[in-house]
Amino acid sequence: MQFKRGPSSSQMARVVMSITTAIYVTIPVYAVAVLLYRRGAKDDADIAGAFVLAGLLVGLTAYDYQRTRRHRADMDVPFALVQLLLGIAVVTFVNLGGGGDPGTYRILYLLPLVVAAVMGDLTMISTVWAVSLACLGYVVFRQSGHQVDTTAWTVIVDGAAWGSAAVAMHVAAQRFLAGTAAAEAVAQLATVADRLERWPEGLAPCMPLIARALDAERALILAGSAGSALEPVGTYPPGAGVHPALATGAARALDGDRIIDNGELVFIPRRTASGLDVVIVTRQAAHHRVRFDMAVTVSQLIAGIVDRASLIGSLRELAMTDPLTGLPNRRSMFESLDRFVAIAARNAEPFSVAMVDLDHFKDYNDRFGHQAGDRILRELGAAFATGIRHQDLVARYGGEEFCVLMPGTTADGAATLFDHLRRQDTVAVTEGVSFSAGLAQWDGHETPDELLARADAALYRAKGRGRDRVETAA
Ligand code: GH3
Ligand code: MG
Ligand code: MG
Repeated sequence: MQFKRGPSSSQMARVVMSITTAIYVTIPVYAVAVLLYRRGAKDDADIAGAFVLAGLLVGLTAYDYQRTRRHRADMDVPFALVQLLLGIAVVTFVNLGGGGDPGTYRILYLLPLVVAAVMGDLTMISTVWAVSLACLGYVVFRQSGHQVDTTAWTVIVDGAAWGSAAVAMHVAAQRFLAGTAAAEAVAQLATVADRLERWPEGLAPCMPLIARALDAERALILAGSAGSALEPVGTYPPGAGVHPALATGAARALDGDRIIDNGELVFIPRRTASGLDVVIVTRQAAHHRVRFDMAVTVSQLIAGIVDRASLIGSLRELAMTDPLTGLPNRRSMFESLDRFVAIAARNAEPFSVAMVDLDHFKDYNDRFGHQAGDRILRELGAAFATGIRHQDLVARYGGEEFCVLMPGTTADGAATLFDHLRRQDTVAVTEGVSFSAGLAQWDGHETPDELLARADAALYRAKGRGRDRVETAA
């Protein structure tokens, strides 16, 4: 038998389950009283049966209590059902053993029904309902001197009343619990969202919370910059497939700027301040409607994540990029340098760096102006960036100085690359601006600073030997 895991682990379900269990485990005391004081009508075999079952129930309950407390585990719904059915059996045997009016015990048959209504689904309610009625019917049948009529009426009347009460209670409890779970999930989402800085990677831990907040079976987030196609950026359950048709519905919700709820799928659109459009799509189980206020709150939280992540991203970009050439700046270069040296050390691979400085650039500026000089810097930077391999990195180191990092490359390999770079047909060449470069291959021990210093010394040598040349450090 499969049980849906609704809000069963909620505190309310636990409380109701605890009360029921507490009542059931006191039944043996009552059974002792029956055994001692009600002579004549009692049936010792039934009372003994009640004791055995009650012992089993107490054992199970103690085990469950330990398990959930110690491992902070969720309440296990099928396990709880076993406990409830055992409780019904205990009541039945005490009932039979006591030999009194079965009406006294009816309230005890109702208890598991209340628990099932709060914590279980309709399958569980039906199971408990059927077993309770069967047990009550059997007790009435035996204690009324095997009267079928009395038994039938008891079962019909009690069955109808209990059944409708249980279903009504179930609906009310599910509403209440879903509301509580949703509020809890939104609060958690707000705390998680407050710390997230990466989009969309940071979204993964939010997905289950989003589904819970919206009381959804499945949830999906589609995002795209204004005008472009929407792409899935997060799914719940993780790895769930995404139907292409969803993007169409999502686009419609965005265009109309309103939540679309077609009874099964809900599209919650949000245009963010940073220009990214986001649509949350949920699949709702039957009778689990999306609450409008929750939808708005959740989409606001998601928009907050997007906006902050994009702000942090652009600030990071700004902090790492040289504004004139668009190349990584000196700070960014030092980060990569440390990383490349570490990788070279781990993989025992060669690693080379080059320091590049334009020749007589001051003269060029003096003759043609700084704007012309800036243009040379920009275009030469771009030529370097396209001339190197994709794993290499070129950064603007300072004024008219560049630094090139070449992982997996020996000094000889770097020299070949620079021969190629020097021959590139750039504006610098047509304008008569040359550059000098100093190369150094990491020696396997030195620090990144020592490596750069050797490249710098080689550059100095290139300048000393007449410029427009490449020198390699010893
Ligand atoms: P050398 O061959 O010895 O390197 O001579 P140099 O003139 O290039 O060297 P120096 O260090 O004397 O001057 C560097 C010049 O680079 C100074 C400055 O005019 C120019 N420069 C530095 N940064 C920029 C910049 O951002 N834009 C422009 N246009 N020029 C720059
Ligand atoms: Mg210089
Ligand atoms: Mg120079």
